Amino acid sequence: MVTHKTQAVVLTCIDFRTYDHAERVLEQAIAERFGVESFDIISLAGGARNLLQDKRRDVVLEDLATSVRLHDPDLIILVNHEDCGAYGGSAQFSDADEEEQFHQEQLEQAAAIARQYVPAEKVKTFYLTLSKSLEHQLA
Ligand SMILES: [Zn+2]
Repeated sequence: MVTHKTQAVVLTCIDFRTYDHAERVLEQAIAERFGVESFDIISLAGGARNLLQDKRRDVVLEDLATSVRLHDPDLIILVNHEDCGAYGGSAQFSDADEEEQFHQEQLEQAAAIARQYVPAEKVKTFYLTLSKSLEHQLA
């Protein structure tokens, strides 16, 4: 039974830099990109990567199902971010473009899994770049 409606559920990383309370990085990015101001948060190291790992997938799907059941989110937003330690950080990549390409691929693979369980059009992805201004990312 839905008692409190939310606009989205966001799967993101634990990294404090993505939701810094003073900067409201994640909130601003989600609001500006998707027009969403309220959302549930599932926060696990590596964000979307958890949907790609056999031993963690069921935990994420269970939490997504709980969010859908309780809060009827319109969107399911998968967020990965630059310099994610769960992936070994930016040092694993030769440059920022290679890093972003990798994360976009991870996000698309994770979205494909999520779309097996919820209406496909509800699933969105977002790559959060910490080193660039928000305005630059959303341009
Ligand atoms: Zn991370």
